[in-house]
Amino acid sequence: MSVPVRVRFAPSPTGMLHIGGVRSALFNWIWARHTSGVFILRIEDTDRARYVPDAVDQITASLDWLGLTPDEGPIQGGNYGPYVQSERLELYRHYAEQLLASGALYPCWCTTERLDSLRQAAQKAGTAFAYDRHCLKHPQALTEPHVLRYKVPANPSVVAWDDEVRGKLEFKTADIDDFVALKSDGYPTYHLANVVDDHLMEISHVLRAEEWIPSTPKHLLLFAAFGWEAPHYAHLPQVLGSDKAKLSKRHSAKSALEYRDEGYLPDTIINFLAALGWNEGSGSTKEIYSRQELIQAFSLERIQKSPAVFESDRLDWLNGKYIRELPIDELLPILEPFWPKAAGAFDDAYRGEAFALIQERIKHLDELPDLTDFFFTDPDQKLVKATLPLDKVEQATATSWLQSAIDIIEKSTVGFEAAALEKLFRDDYLTTIAVEKPGPVFMVLRVAITGKTATPGLFETMAVLGQKTVVKRLQNAIFVLK
Ligand code: GLU
Repeated sequence: MSVPVRVRFAPSPTGMLHIGGVRSALFNWIWARHTSGVFILRIEDTDRARYVPDAVDQITASLDWLGLTPDEGPIQGGNYGPYVQSERLELYRHYAEQLLASGALYPCWCTTERLDSLRQAAQKAGTAFAYDRHCLKHPQALTEPHVLRYKVPANPSVVAWDDEVRGKLEFKTADIDDFVALKSDGYPTYHLANVVDDHLMEISHVLRAEEWIPSTPKHLLLFAAFGWEAPHYAHLPQVLGSDKAKLSKRHSAKSALEYRDEGYLPDTIINFLAALGWNEGSGSTKEIYSRQELIQAFSLERIQKSPAVFESDRLDWLNGKYIRELPIDELLPILEPFWPKAAGAFDDAYRGEAFALIQERIKHLDELPDLTDFFFTDPDQKLVKATLPLDKVEQATATSWLQSAIDIIEKSTVGFEAAALEKLFRDDYLTTIAVEKPGPVFMVLRVAITGKTATPGLFETMAVLGQKTVVKRLQNAIFVLK
């Protein structure tokens, strides 16, 4: 009988939840859903020096936004709590004492200065630092401040495991330092807390980033020292920037909440991250998965060993695709925080019409003000004047084109729909002003109406703005040219 799957996302609250961390959360979440298992959030906050107070809120907000809500965690609770390590200190102390009694841990009173000089000596000699077990030979009183170190045994001579992603991995015990398990302030180190919790929380699979591989032999040694069975390990491939360097700000990789604020949709992020280290294989060219499809298709075997490459162009492409494919009534509530202020005076029907004209072009929703401001406010007249192509068209000519446009609109009886306007302007209007090449003329009208040279189709835009607004803006432009 196989054990039920219980996986955990175990971030340290040391800052923003970076997109690489979200990838770990996502893979754990998908694996839990795929196996009808349990997804746990555990906060590993024992490194008090690096603790950032609002980081836990950021982590929770990020997971909520993406719909990766834990089944058990600090907010949800559960039978294996508390889920915050700083609230479990008694447990770690208890288990450390157990290992102290069995001789697996030993006290060490060495000062920082002594350890630093050992480190410097190792560096000079070009060897890896390893504690010299001085305190094993020279014990002091247990009332003096000390840490507890793990006494790495000579036997077994290698620690090996069958990684679900990387296959067989092994480390020589001789290369493992007598690492600290309990610090002098009574806090556990990452290694001790991680192992105790993975055991007590009955974690079946540890899916974590590849950078933790060097820690795994230490964890396996601790599991063995306790006589506990270790979970399965699956180390997720590194994520590199498109230049193959370790992912950083430079590659415009951001925190989850930054992506939220820039107007990326949760489904975009989920799809994008799922492909960072996983693919369905068997020649699948499927680009977009619903959550349900991902959950179904996912398997640990298909997680790749080789580094994944973070391509922000693909992220934009995916987001654009999601935005284009969502029906407007689903989009409107998502768009709400992104509209320019002036849109507040307009109803959903009008906003929807405006959005439909830029839906093809927008990549992330924070572009909304820039792409749609002229639907809600008259363009700044100074800007209109500066933008009109007056280097190519004489001012008097531009003025007469603008006036003829007003005249033809006011005389027209064909209505103010895009198709009717297009016909009116391409035929009657161009004939009236006796112009053959429509390019410069329509540019003058476009700039007068929107203040911009690049906008959605001129006639579609005019139709959304309505006759009154269009005529007013054409008049304003004539005025500013005087
Ligand atoms: N607290 C570690 C981190 O910040 C967790 C590593 C693990 O999953 O074991 O990533």
